Amino acid sequence: MTADLLPLGVVPDLGVVPTKMLAQVIRASRFGEPTDAFAEEALAIPTLGPRDVLVYVMAAGVNYNNVWAAMGIPIDVIKTRNKKGEPEDFHVGGSDASGVVWAVGKDVTNVAVGDDVVVHCGMWEPDDPHVLAGKDPMFAPTQRIWGYESNWGSFAQYCKVQDHQCLPKPAHLTWEQAASYMLVAATAYRMLHGWSGNTLQAGDPVLIWGGAGGLGSMAIQIARAAGARPVAVVSGDSKTDFCKQLGAVGVIDRRKFDHWGKLPRWSDDIEYNLWLKGARAFGAAFWEALGEKKNPAIVFEHPGETTLPTSCFMCETGGMVVICAGTTGYNATLDLRYHWMRQKRLQGSHFANDAQCKGANDLVIAGKVDPCLARTFPFAETGACHQLMRDNQHPSGNMAILVNSPRPGLRTLDDVRGAQ
Ligand code: NAP
Repeated sequence: MTADLLPLGVVPDLGVVPTKMLAQVIRASRFGEPTDAFAEEALAIPTLGPRDVLVYVMAAGVNYNNVWAAMGIPIDVIKTRNKKGEPEDFHVGGSDASGVVWAVGKDVTNVAVGDDVVVHCGMWEPDDPHVLAGKDPMFAPTQRIWGYESNWGSFAQYCKVQDHQCLPKPAHLTWEQAASYMLVAATAYRMLHGWSGNTLQAGDPVLIWGGAGGLGSMAIQIARAAGARPVAVVSGDSKTDFCKQLGAVGVIDRRKFDHWGKLPRWSDDIEYNLWLKGARAFGAAFWEALGEKKNPAIVFEHPGETTLPTSCFMCETGGMVVICAGTTGYNATLDLRYHWMRQKRLQGSHFANDAQCKGANDLVIAGKVDPCLARTFPFAETGACHQLMRDNQHPSGNMAILVNSPRPGLRTLDDVRGAQ
């Protein structure tokens, strides 16, 4: 007989799906600080379409996108989905998961019940003409980020994903390590390897903002794996060693500079020259950290408003500033004189396609990229760990949440059954 609802850590027989599951749920009435926005609720387990997979979630990764979802900023993810015809008046977030395939739709062929998987968060409709034409699905009109723009993410006992989102779990990793890296690693992989004409080359100097953060810690390792020379930017002494251990050839402490923010007007000589002095000093710090007077061929951007003028200024002639976020604000300013005369590229980038996710996962499987799991939280602290992230108080590297895995250190379904 199928159980209604099983407590966390009580594992049903392989492939037996209960009718309900526990989830950490965001509702519009709770939008605000993450600590208040998430609450545990029992929900019906979603039904599967022909190309869908139900994953028994062992652990979930923590990302900035569900800080935004919790706050309802910059969009109300629930209302946005309702407008598209999805009926649920709640959000089950979570864009990173490790777990075991528990059920599959009738047309799924790439995974089977019992497979250990990690899940990437790129979704698109399989019958989207753009996807069927073989074009990059990240440009497809139906592309969405699972567990942020879609419902049924990993902050629940079961998550619903599309078949192509499943990749093999690196066997050497624990469930919580395996859940912690895919979103940031694949995003960084596309940023550094995805933009033809400006892809990472051996020997390239690369500037990486937020080197001790989720994206930054992956970017340093991906750059090193390609033989490039990453210089990381951080705030705080403790983060310097962390970045060097990952392979940064040098580290800059951004607290030593104060020229941040939007550019002053070009015609305001006094203010502009002050800014220029700050930007040049930062450029000199980059050369010192690199050990050579060379500018970055790629600038790995995500803070946005406060740092973009500096990134665009110091990028090498013909180089690329590649940006996937605007954590400090969205109004980008840059001095176009340097941009066109030195023929630089400002490239937007967003998550990754299947091949890029596989590229990132293969680096993890090969031991060339470590997930940098810094801290693991119990399921009940889903809101608390997102709050740490919102307050920039989270540890260097990545964080994970135990869902069905009862304690850290377990690697297989048998381990979890043994721990019951
Ligand atoms: P994270 O772990 O919080 O790291 C961000 C880092 O940015 C922090 O460690 C911090 O490092 C640095 N930072 C904060 N304020 C800064 C400022 N004023 N100037 C310079 N650096 C600053 O977050 P994450 O997971 O790396 O994500 C970063 C952003 O990228 C978020 O907005 C996230 O939503 C976005 N993102 C987008 C995608 C996509 O596909 N589009 C994918 C992943 C993440 P220091 O204080 O040490 O400098």
